[in-house]
Amino acid sequence: MGTSMNRRQWLRFLGATAAVSAAGGLGACASRGGKDADVIVLGAGISGLYSAMLLEEAGFRVMLVEADRRIGGRIFTLDTVDGRPEAGGFEVGPMYARVLAQVERFGLGLHGWIGDSIRYALHIQDRLMPASAWQDAGENRLAGEFRARPPFALASVLLPERSPLPGLESWVDPEVAGRWDLPYGQYLRAQGADEAALSLLSVGLAADEIDQMSLLWILRQQKVREFSRDAGGLQFIDGGMKRLVEAMQGSLHGDLELGCPVEAIESGAGGAEVRCAGGRRYRADYVVSTLPLTVLRDIAIHPGLPDVQRAAVNNIPYGHGTSIFLPVREPFWEEDGLPPSIWSDGMLPRVMRWQSQEGQYLWVYLSGIANDFCRNNPDDVVLEEVMRELVRIRPSTAGRVDPGFVMCWSKHPWVRGTFAYRGPGDVSRYGTAAATPHGRVHFAGEHTSVLSMGLEGAMESAERAAFEILERAG
Ligand SMILES: Cc1cc2nc3c(=O)[nH]c(=O)nc-3n(C[C@H](O)[C@H](O)[C@H](O)COP(=O)(O)OP(=O)(O)OC[C@H]3O[C@@H](n4cnc5c(N)ncnc54)[C@H](O)[C@@H]3O)c2cc1C
Repeated sequence: MGTSMNRRQWLRFLGATAAVSAAGGLGACASRGGKDADVIVLGAGISGLYSAMLLEEAGFRVMLVEADRRIGGRIFTLDTVDGRPEAGGFEVGPMYARVLAQVERFGLGLHGWIGDSIRYALHIQDRLMPASAWQDAGENRLAGEFRARPPFALASVLLPERSPLPGLESWVDPEVAGRWDLPYGQYLRAQGADEAALSLLSVGLAADEIDQMSLLWILRQQKVREFSRDAGGLQFIDGGMKRLVEAMQGSLHGDLELGCPVEAIESGAGGAEVRCAGGRRYRADYVVSTLPLTVLRDIAIHPGLPDVQRAAVNNIPYGHGTSIFLPVREPFWEEDGLPPSIWSDGMLPRVMRWQSQEGQYLWVYLSGIANDFCRNNPDDVVLEEVMRELVRIRPSTAGRVDPGFVMCWSKHPWVRGTFAYRGPGDVSRYGTAAATPHGRVHFAGEHTSVLSMGLEGAMESAERAAFEILERAG
């Protein structure tokens, strides 16, 4: 059972489920008023699929409406690419109770880390070097105690040893937010970080600039890591993360409309209506929107959202990220004697040798400002430039790495980013407004989770939205 559901809520959920089933299910009233379903769930990512599962289990007739031609959203195992890389979410944390429960329910296998741990060569100010050379390198402009730290471990000396947030959910507490909801860079400067340190600390951030990120968000992530640390290691689903969403979809009975981008949602006293591109319209008692905020901001919602909620939807920022997967033909690291992976302050911040059940590949991950180039160019140009830059900074890769697959989430028409984060002041300004039900419309999706993050957060949010509907319908 998930962490956000206490015993009392769970019993109430089971009780309501039993009551609905005994009455022949809420679907029994589906013929009234020309409804297409009791609930329409928008988006067939993991939060939409899980919302639909929970609501069906409670007896509702559910319809899923998805803009894309495939299910999964930000879960996207590339089955036909060498090594079967994961373009989206795939690491299952030890605290992912809901994900793990579904893995078990569908009889899927799990495995731990495969192969060697990631070891980085450094590429700083255009010089490639082993991490051991960093402390005395001319390119190391860090002062004092920071010099000896590998640049990817700098944050750990500047952040508090333990997250000062009292609990996993404390980041939404206005009092806590009042204290920590400030620009991350401002805090780091106050801890002694100079410009040289700040430029290294910016590498790999989701935000384009360090001060666009709230310290509160960093401390939330730190808190989640602390909880996970002692609970066990990361796990991965055999055959890829996509196997889970396929199994979830397979368990559903209601209609799934693919290729159906929602353009408008209307909520009235008698029901809710969803309008898709091309004029298709669907009616139900309730709607659950799991659409990323980047998309929701362009959807016409009638009546309009209250001011704070509208501002939250419009302004909560999303990170940018592009994954490029390059098949490895020969072990180039044996040629130059450096560790296989690269950590860089240049155009390719992270190049990781990744080993999977199906083989190995290089995973180039371009986030934050390093992703700007990907956002503004077609994938083939991105691939060409990445290959060229890789060979330039690491000549041993020439002829030993093949061009592969580019997945730029910022350009994905139905996601438009990687995941929501919070800028300075966002939590104080918006709190959890993005998750507040509006008329007959309920909101889920990773951007609305409070306790967990990522895949587990998406499922937590689905559970909350399903409960909300169950409570008002029951
Ligand atoms: C590169 C990357 C790596 C990640 N790695 C991890 C990881 O290892 N572990 C982890 O826990 N999390 C990870 N995550 C995060 C995780 O993938 C997400 O938190 C989770 O998949 C989000 O699920 P969701 O259902 O909230 O949203 P989504 O999966 O985005 O689902 C929303 C759905 O809505 C659909 N949609 C959008 N617009 C419309 C419209 N107008 N009409 C109808 N449908 C629409 C979309 O097509 C999509 O299917 C990663 C994310 C990325 C991008």
